[in-house]
Amino acid sequence: MSPDSDWPIRVAAINALQERVRRHGDVLPWEVIDAGFTYKGETLHFANRARGIFWPRQMRETALSIKTTVPRQGREARYDDLPSDEGFDYRFQGEDVDGRDNRRLVRAMELDAPLIYFYGIEPGLYAPIWPVYISGVDLATKSFTVASGLPEAQVRAPGSYAADSKLLGLERRYTTVQVKKRLHQVAFRQHVLRAYEQRCAICRFPRRELLDAAHILPDRDVRGRPEVPNGLALCKLHHGAFDTDLLGIRPDGVIEIARRLMAEQDGPTLEHGLKGFAGKPLGVIPLLPAQRPRSEYLEERYERFRLTRDA
Ligand SMILES: [Zn+2]
Repeated sequence: MSPDSDWPIRVAAINALQERVRRHGDVLPWEVIDAGFTYKGETLHFANRARGIFWPRQMRETALSIKTTVPRQGREARYDDLPSDEGFDYRFQGEDVDGRDNRRLVRAMELDAPLIYFYGIEPGLYAPIWPVYISGVDLATKSFTVASGLPEAQVRAPGSYAADSKLLGLERRYTTVQVKKRLHQVAFRQHVLRAYEQRCAICRFPRRELLDAAHILPDRDVRGRPEVPNGLALCKLHHGAFDTDLLGIRPDGVIEIARRLMAEQDGPTLEHGLKGFAGKPLGVIPLLPAQRPRSEYLEERYERFRLTRDA
């Protein structure tokens, strides 16, 4: 395996990207990505708005990053089927595998060089995934296969990867499934919080850091897909109360509180934060009817609540 001459730039980029994620979270706005990173006193870019496959001109052989965007009219990423270990399909730039951009990915595959994948979640918002590797080329479908690697792999020097290629293959298939699951959850949270204008559906609490995207039907349910009509933006308190059936939502959107809680007396959080919402309608519902909770999901979930409501 020949050494990856672009390695130092890759390391600088990944270190800088980790710092951005620490500061901004799992989903980065394009402006943060576009600000680039410093390498030997120069500002280099992570990616380019107009191009999928990108490398700074200082990189000699391979690419630094690949990027996919979300179709603007859709406004929402389409979900793949259940997370598989198949790797992500990444379309060629143009038709020719020998094209300037595609050649860089072929070379990255030959060197087993780690790349950064900017995965479009919503227009202008990307989940960065690293390290990813080009694990295959399909001339028939004109696409590359992209697999994820363990995060620790990025700090291993080139050529010092696990010696056992079978083990490495297993590791990457496993990691790819985990990354796909995480992307589903990241996208779900992003879409649900936006649909609810970054507020709790019960109390309208507006701090994003303390909001979750709750599932109406649990995600272990086959229908419990991470899609907005199966979601509710809830603050940590109300998410916990909803998941433990201390709080229920009637299919007509009215909030109910379990009797065992209504009977308790204990300070302002219980009084105002929970009991105070009994009989009130939801505080926020999505503007778009297609994003509102699906009534059959609410009905089914409410039935579960009702079983223990009066206990
Ligand atoms: Zn709340």
